[in-house]
Amino acid sequence: MSYVNPFLDLCRELRHLQDEAEALGLFAGDRDLLDCPTCGLFEDVTAEGLLITSRQLAHPPLDTGLRFHEGSANTFQCPACSRAISLNHQNHGEAA
Ligand SMILES: [Zn+2]
Repeated sequence: MSYVNPFLDLCRELRHLQDEAEALGLFAGDRDLLDCPTCGLFEDVTAEGLLITSRQLAHPPLDTGLRFHEGSANTFQCPACSRAISLNHQNHGEAA
């Protein structure tokens, strides 16, 4: 009797959807939002689910158009001041 693990299929589908969401500029929520302690640039997610960066809380949110660059595992670089920011939490589903 053949048996397909439905949970495994679900995980694969979720990963696929996360990749698609990132390609569209949507935030998949698979890591914490970044916040630069040096220049104050921070990531935010709009009501539409788009990942943006801003320097002030505003409604509607103001997008600077800048994006944090992912370097090595869990380390990102601020696009405004080049500070390296480490995420303490491990990304789910990624090898260390
Ligand atoms: Zn910065």
